[in-house]
Amino acid sequence: MLAIYTRLSREDSESTSIENQLREGKSFAKDNGFNDIHIYNEGQGVSGGAEIKDRPQLFKLLQDISDNEIKTVWFRNQNRLERNSSTWHIFTTEAKKYKVDIYFNDKLFDFENPQDNLYGTIQSALNQYQKDLQSTQTKRTLKDNVREGKVWSVVAYGYKSDNGLLAIDELEAEIVKEIYNLSLSGIGTGTIANRLNKRGVPTRKNKLFRPHTIQTIIKNPLYKGERKYSSEVFTSPIIIEPNLWQKVNDNLKNNRNNSGKKVEYKYLLKGLLKCGDCGRNYYGRKRLSGKDNSYICSSRRYKDLTCSNKGIFIPFIEELIWGQLFTRSLFLIAYQDFISSNDNDSKISEIEKEIDDINIKISKNNKKVNKLLDLILEDEDDLHTDSRRLFNSKINSIQEKVKTLKEKKNNNLEEIKQYENYIDSSMIELLSKDYFNPSFNTKKELVNSFINKIIITFDKIDSTGIYYIEILPKIKGMDSIVYAAPFSKKYAIEINNLIFEDVELINQETILNMNIFIYGEKKDVEIKTRLDNYKYFLNNIRTII
Ligand SMILES: [Zn+2]
Repeated sequence: MLAIYTRLSREDSESTSIENQLREGKSFAKDNGFNDIHIYNEGQGVSGGAEIKDRPQLFKLLQDISDNEIKTVWFRNQNRLERNSSTWHIFTTEAKKYKVDIYFNDKLFDFENPQDNLYGTIQSALNQYQKDLQSTQTKRTLKDNVREGKVWSVVAYGYKSDNGLLAIDELEAEIVKEIYNLSLSGIGTGTIANRLNKRGVPTRKNKLFRPHTIQTIIKNPLYKGERKYSSEVFTSPIIIEPNLWQKVNDNLKNNRNNSGKKVEYKYLLKGLLKCGDCGRNYYGRKRLSGKDNSYICSSRRYKDLTCSNKGIFIPFIEELIWGQLFTRSLFLIAYQDFISSNDNDSKISEIEKEIDDINIKISKNNKKVNKLLDLILEDEDDLHTDSRRLFNSKINSIQEKVKTLKEKKNNNLEEIKQYENYIDSSMIELLSKDYFNPSFNTKKELVNSFINKIIITFDKIDSTGIYYIEILPKIKGMDSIVYAAPFSKKYAIEINNLIFEDVELINQETILNMNIFIYGEKKDVEIKTRLDNYKYFLNNIRTII
């Protein structure tokens, strides 16, 4: 890409016309094999003595140089570039920095032959330039350009610069229209980008269209004739009729799911599910296609890890946990049972006794150390080096023992604290609340505050099998709640309190209280079941134990 900079100013008597400059620039491009040219036409009346900020095209050229878009610049001669030494410094410094070749007419400018004395002022000039970039005056110049319909930076796709004025590029405008029509017909931005790329339609910078590019084009009000600058709106040549523009933009939201963009799923049990086989986490995998909808062992992610545990259907396990434990208050019931029957007090006294033992051991060991130290001190002079070493190692080993004992004691004290906190009225309050239509976050918060982890194990029996779902509460001392579910995942039954001797005692008419979760039943189901069902469940479970 060759940049051709042209300027005509009144003060130049020897100034050749813009047309002449362009002709010469183009013939230079041809002679030197540049197929692409970009013309920066400052036009008439801009003084070469003006600062860069007052020369929009030179300013733009510098921007493009710093974007690495321009590597060669052609000027009719040096005074097209500048009649102002700071402009000279700035331009040559930037050009050198970005390794840009500068031609004045047909002569390549040699950076390696600088006039050293001139370069001393570069830094301060550059600083001034940086400041100018942000100055209100620069902005005003840009705004004036916009108002007059001039182009000032990269021209949007579908437009071109016609002598510095924003004009429609007919070929690109056709593509813009196509993009709007495709989008309106329900095609997502990703698909549109792919179609254009397949056809080899180039973007401005000869890159590929991306979904984001398409979206930017659809959302740009420039195409319906609104050119925004700061908070003001100016006019632009219309490519898309405002009505159509609005329709397409309203419709864009509907197409979002077709863009190929990943839909984010929320996994209620994320981080809680563990694999009963290998101990790794289960993670949720869900796809729009419906192909996957399971929590699976994370071993599956890696080729060299093997785990044969089965994944579990997400709606089933989430409904089981939320529906049974929270909506049907089973967690609350289990918690209340635990409080009323808990033997935490005896557990605490057990631990306290252990701590007492530890204390005795520690003091015994300390005494031993003291005795050894006394011995050393008494016979210090006579003590053989080997004996001294022996003493030292003995003392060290006792001190190690004391250290371990102290750690154990600290753990025990910590454990006591947890046991003592088992009755927490705020927990009961949280669990007793009626959650009508809870948000995902409410559910997640509750699940995370009461459940420590959920261990999933699948026991394969022939072509079928049974899932064991063990829910470990966070509350210290409270038993885990275990559900068994058949491979079909139509139901799950709580099997915590079942012992096989029970089965022998039950006769056909016995009706038992048991917790059954029936998948898909939103209403409260009778949790009493007849023995034959019960036996059926148990037999299924029993065969694999
Ligand atoms: Zn596993």
